[in-house]
Amino acid sequence: MSTKQDIRALTKNELREFFKSQGDKTFRGNQVYEWLWSKGAHTFEEMTNLSKATREMLQQNFVINHIEVDDMQRSSDGTVKNAIRLHDGLVVESVLIPTENRTTACVSSQVGCSLNCKFCATARLKKMRNLNPDEIYDQVAAINQQSLHYYNHKLSNIVFMGMGEPLMNYNNVLKAIEKITSEEGLGMSPKRITVSTSGVPKMIKKMADEEVKFNLAVSLHSAIDEVRTSIMPFNETLNLTDLIESLKYWYSKTKSRVTYEYVVWDGINDDKKSIQALVNFCKHIPCKVNLIEYNPIDDDTFKQASNTALNNYISNLEMHDIIVNVRRSRGKDIDAACGQLANKKS
Ligand code: SF4
Repeated sequence: MSTKQDIRALTKNELREFFKSQGDKTFRGNQVYEWLWSKGAHTFEEMTNLSKATREMLQQNFVINHIEVDDMQRSSDGTVKNAIRLHDGLVVESVLIPTENRTTACVSSQVGCSLNCKFCATARLKKMRNLNPDEIYDQVAAINQQSLHYYNHKLSNIVFMGMGEPLMNYNNVLKAIEKITSEEGLGMSPKRITVSTSGVPKMIKKMADEEVKFNLAVSLHSAIDEVRTSIMPFNETLNLTDLIESLKYWYSKTKSRVTYEYVVWDGINDDKKSIQALVNFCKHIPCKVNLIEYNPIDDDTFKQASNTALNNYISNLEMHDIIVNVRRSRGKDIDAACGQLANKKS
């Protein structure tokens, strides 16, 4: 691994200052920034509007760290799953999910995860490190290229629902979103971005205070502390009382409806008590519920609940005027569950 500094860690101003310190014109910093971020250059040689001497000087001082798509699986339903190799050899996953009128990128925020959700393949990879802002941005840029290539239009949405807990890598996720939404980056609206958390109350409040403009989703899966703790052990300390308090705070500050992600498993949360608990939980703030079909991992405990159980959820939520969508599993013929592909590659 090189000890030279990663040039992509510098802001535009820092690049301008660097050229000034070299006795050169500051606008060279703008040119390099454009090559790195708008034109996606991976080598200094590509920067053809710089002199050979300038390119060599940059080469001596910096490296350009970037991601590589190491493996790609394309499902019969059009879902594209990528194993992304980072500059230090670690692997994360990013997915392109096409639907009728949109293409969505599902991106990772950490290599592995420190939370130990029992139903999650990523949890089997211990947390190695946080992703840098440029590594998060690069996943989105790579999937945008795939969207253009396969579907002839730009990426329309982004969800932070890949590997890792985004709020445990808060600063880098926010910096990446800043770049994704900037005109020099991809110019996407923050309203098309959703950060999905397993529920870290302190960080939800922090986001609310910063009045972020993107959407918030919470992987809820149970509104009963006992059940939630059995499948998401961190709930023992970050419990539902604290979660709902932070979500009320979020809504009071942002007026933005929260989405609850919810998988119904056979024998775990498919009973009447669980349904009633979710209905009660949903009454606290304006929200909607996504009932997500489960992508099984190699484990006997978690099985998708019956259609009857799913229909019971839907009718009860609708009876209480709660918006509910069913999200069918995508990419069933590939390693669709998050973490499966990286488990194979690492
Ligand atoms: S579900 Fe999310 S928070 Fe839980 S272990 Fe998997 S990646 Fe981490």
